[in-house]
Amino acid sequence: MEIRLQTSLIAALVSVALAVSVLLRTRRGPEQRLFGLLALNLGAWYLTRLLELALGDGTGSGFFGRLHLVFGVLFPLSIVRFFRAFVAEEAMRRIQRLNRAALGLAVVLLVLAATPLHEHIAFRTALLTYVFLALGGALVAVVRWGRQVESSQESRRLLFLAAIGGLAALFALPEYLPAVGLELPPLGTVLVLLFLYLLHQSVLGSRLIDLYELAGRLAVLTALSFTLAGLLWLLVRVAGETSFLQPVVASLVVLLLFDPLRSRVSAQIQRLLFRDRVLFERTITNLRRRVAHVLEVDDLAAVLMEGFAESRRFARAALYLATEDRRALDLAGALGPTPLTHLEVAPARPLLQRLERDGQVTLEGTLRRLEGHRVRGEDRAAETLYEVAQGLEAMGTSVALALRSDEGELYGLLCVGDASDSFSDDEVGLLRGLAMQAAIALENSRLFQRLNERDRLAALGEMAAGLAHEVRNPLGAIKAAAQYVEASQGSPGEHAGGAEREMLEVIVEEVDRLGRVVGGFLDYAKPGRGDPSPVDAGEVARRTLKLMEPQARTQGARITLVEGDALPPVRIDAEQLKQVLLNLLRNALQAVEGRGEGAITVEVAGVPAAEPRHVELRVRDDGPGISAAVRSKLFVPFVTTKDDGTGLGLALSQRIVSAAGGTIEARSPRGQGATFVVRLPAASRESSPGSAWAASSAGTAAAPRTAAGARGSARRDAVAGAAEVPSG
Ligand code: ADP
Repeated sequence: MEIRLQTSLIAALVSVALAVSVLLRTRRGPEQRLFGLLALNLGAWYLTRLLELALGDGTGSGFFGRLHLVFGVLFPLSIVRFFRAFVAEEAMRRIQRLNRAALGLAVVLLVLAATPLHEHIAFRTALLTYVFLALGGALVAVVRWGRQVESSQESRRLLFLAAIGGLAALFALPEYLPAVGLELPPLGTVLVLLFLYLLHQSVLGSRLIDLYELAGRLAVLTALSFTLAGLLWLLVRVAGETSFLQPVVASLVVLLLFDPLRSRVSAQIQRLLFRDRVLFERTITNLRRRVAHVLEVDDLAAVLMEGFAESRRFARAALYLATEDRRALDLAGALGPTPLTHLEVAPARPLLQRLERDGQVTLEGTLRRLEGHRVRGEDRAAETLYEVAQGLEAMGTSVALALRSDEGELYGLLCVGDASDSFSDDEVGLLRGLAMQAAIALENSRLFQRLNERDRLAALGEMAAGLAHEVRNPLGAIKAAAQYVEASQGSPGEHAGGAEREMLEVIVEEVDRLGRVVGGFLDYAKPGRGDPSPVDAGEVARRTLKLMEPQARTQGARITLVEGDALPPVRIDAEQLKQVLLNLLRNALQAVEGRGEGAITVEVAGVPAAEPRHVELRVRDDGPGISAAVRSKLFVPFVTTKDDGTGLGLALSQRIVSAAGGTIEARSPRGQGATFVVRLPAASRESSPGSAWAASSAGTAAAPRTAAGARGSARRDAVAGAAEVPSG
């Protein structure tokens, strides 16, 4: 059998087999489908050549000869389409144009192939030109795209890909030469088949996912093809072209050598071409593992900088962490020359906004885009990018990455710089993964800190409560002793001097004050749960008002109670609710003291609009109101503006109300005194047999309301320093 016949047969069978094995797979992506079409096209091309050689007259103008031409015309189209599955959007557009041009030319050539003109050498030359223009065009598109990408590493990789593609096109060249009457040994067929086989392997494994992978594989493939083609050439030389055994022996040799050769060549190429990238990936993976175990914020910077230093790829690195008030970022750790140690958020806003949008910003990309905006005269965009670039340069960084919580809160910035080089897109992708891991570590360390803090505070609280107990016991004895000495001195002027008596009074007063502080503190630190049960808030208010009546009267103040109708009961310990109201009323009386006839109003009303229903108790006074400075920390323990105050009344009230599921808030519109609003949820119906809370009001001054007597009108009770008597 003639050598071209043999190689055509083998090539047709191998191509179709490869195509079928991919196309028959149940799960295939666009690249697998395109590869299947490409291999089918090639198979048909070789098959028609075989048939033409076997059955035709040798001129190439028979039926199969023409079909062979048709598949030859279609082949570049299949290649360009396959290429498109791997290039990015921008390059795609260019290839699309190329695709359309090639398609137009192909149609013309196909039409010509059907006419007697196809035998003309001009047609054949046009065909050859078209094939290489189409392939060359695709490669040029990749090269131009490579010149435009932002990262120089990425650009180098693309150019490399184009070079490999060029080599592949060169391999295909000898296959087309017979069309213009040139005959070469069938080396091209072997090379094309090897390319096809290796591409098939990559496509089947769905591993041609990134450019790095594609370029790496193409490099392996080229080296392999040359090695195997050299072997084949040797065989042909030794055995002679006409040997029948030659293709069989060649196939056997190829089969035997293929796997070991492939892994060797692949390892070598990885080492030579992608060593940096492999090391980089290893560094980042190791770092991610180490960062995952970090529990203290301080350790994070140390772990990161150590890892960067070990890799030797990073000339500079810095970790910035947001300050408590989120207004600035402070340097937590750095590698290389010390960068800015403090970064105010306001001036760095353009950079931070960009980071918020993209997650990372590279200096190289920013400068390129800035140049683009300048060329197009887009001044505002250029201005912003200039500020971004300045921010990056100030930090001495090539890539800045944001460390954010899940909710988007900025925890900090990770900045890295490479003295000699920039980072490629996939390296930036790896860095982004590291930044994400670092953000998780920061979140975890904050939680950990909070837990520690809580435990510490709980222990401190226990100790303080114990201490307060110890202080309270001797206070009683001191007071009793002081009073005894005071009494034993008899009436003033008898024995003792006025100064001594005064001292004794001071002792008793101060002991009382200390007792109040300690008692309040103990109540606050360990409030009893009480006995929460459905309670009539109006009833509790009436009782409390009665208690405050004498004090109001001496002060000349007037307290009015406004009680709404049909109040639902609230679930709270009645004594604790009374305590809350007492605190609020005491504060109100103190606020109106010395301001003529102070007016205090207590309102108890249902909040029907709220669901579930609530009861509101409002205590309003016409005192001086609460200053803004005090209002912001009103419920913080020990905050007081009074000489003899403890600053615990409101804090304790808030604790009681929150424990009952309610809220307490203060309002103080300018010049209108202060109003405290306590909101308590109504007790659910099942747990509030009406009689239970109604009965609890028996024995108090105001008679329980009957539905008939109270409906439709608000009742006004007044406890007053003047002679006003509560009306039924
Ligand atoms: P104390 O009364 O012992 O100071 P509180 O916790 O009850 O402690 O109150 C804290 C502070 O809140 C008071 O010192 C006072 O400045 C302010 N305050 C509370 N109630 C009023 C009010 N009705 N009018 C003006 N200021 C008030």
